[in-house]
Amino acid sequence: MILNENQQKITKRIKKTKWEDWTWQIKHTIKTLKQFEQITEIKFSEEEKNILDETIRKFPLSITPYYVSLIDLKNYKTDPVYLQSFPSPKELDVCVHEMSDPLSEDKDSPVPHLTHRYPDRVLLHVSNLCSMYCRHCTRKRKVGDRDSIPVFEELEKAFKYIENNTKVRDVLLSGGDPLMLPDDYLDKVLNRISQIPHVEIIRIGTRMPVVLPYRITTKLIKILKKYQPLYINTHFNHPREITNSAKKALAMLVNAGIVLGNQSVLLSGINDCPRIIKTLCQKLVQNRVRPYYLYQCDLSEGLTHFRTPINKGIEILESLIGHTSGFARPTYVIDAPGGGGKIPVEPNYIISHGTNKVILRNYEGIITTYKEPDSYEATFCDRDCVNCKLQLNLEEANKFSTIGIEKLLSNTDKTISLIPSVNQRIKRREKNKINK
Ligand SMILES: *Cc1c(COP(=O)(O)O)cnc(C)c1O
Repeated sequence: MILNENQQKITKRIKKTKWEDWTWQIKHTIKTLKQFEQITEIKFSEEEKNILDETIRKFPLSITPYYVSLIDLKNYKTDPVYLQSFPSPKELDVCVHEMSDPLSEDKDSPVPHLTHRYPDRVLLHVSNLCSMYCRHCTRKRKVGDRDSIPVFEELEKAFKYIENNTKVRDVLLSGGDPLMLPDDYLDKVLNRISQIPHVEIIRIGTRMPVVLPYRITTKLIKILKKYQPLYINTHFNHPREITNSAKKALAMLVNAGIVLGNQSVLLSGINDCPRIIKTLCQKLVQNRVRPYYLYQCDLSEGLTHFRTPINKGIEILESLIGHTSGFARPTYVIDAPGGGGKIPVEPNYIISHGTNKVILRNYEGIITTYKEPDSYEATFCDRDCVNCKLQLNLEEANKFSTIGIEKLLSNTDKTISLIPSVNQRIKRREKNKINK
């Protein structure tokens, strides 16, 4: 392997290189300002150091030598790698809308290490550790608070919970970074989950291909391969992160039959540009990674300076939809504060809708009409499927129950409106006993 100029500089300082050994990288993770200064030869003034130290005390610093080596040291102040990994005093500005746990993950946690938000899938926090602490982390509240991996037995309650909830068909390993677990431990966790009969797929969310691609070893691949169907979502935010080492790691994963997706966060001053996101998405699909989500930056504490207005995301989607391959565009989502889950947001394409005719516009600005059928015999749906002429094979299909807007749309459910549990008018009705 040929080291770039930065890497050569770094390895000269950290003698005897084992650059591609991920455990070496972890051992030499940069955790102090002093280490960062020594390696990068960037010098901060005393004043800067004081405020940076204060920032690090609140939100710790950790960067892998590999990720540091991607910083363009000549232009570091606006460098996307630097901005994602090196603390900014702006993190100390907490504004009133911000929360330590904006997605209410802790409230939706029925047992330790598990978040259950959606009906059929759960999030399992298997590790508190990350090799790199992203400055824009939505779980900043947890970063470095207990730098530990739970002992296997600690996860047993979570496994039992999944076992007892037969609706859970998708288990998502998250953290921290699940690939911080030692191979044997990860193998054990995956094995335990895969033994649960109703779990159909396992997912892993990891930033290793971005911040430490050498973690993807042939030994790891051998383990992951055993647990198909396995999906991995990674977290590239900028095309500059797609290096040769990253490409190699991605190829190893895909070649092992693992389905790869990418979740990006829209970040002010880093990737809030249609051209950057488009290039990123196209590079991802070139490497067989499907752009999955583009996140609006969460309302976590200390992220004010990273946030863009929603219209920036819509503008970016406008430059992707129609302009490039359909599978090169992520779904732009806002993760609802309070725990409502991910809500997709898109540009508007329907201009008007008359009787049996819809007026649409395309990405070029052409206004077009789509004639809907004059007669359409709706199939009455009792959600039971027994008397339906459409042939769903009942034995293989999951049982159907519905909530929310879907329920309002159904033919048989008597619900005509969804009313918040706290509603003054309904309360008044109850008080005046004019209910019913
Ligand atoms: C994002 C998320 C999931 C997975 O959602 P998908 O839309 O299926 O990718 C599951 N649980 C929680 C708590 C989440 O935040």
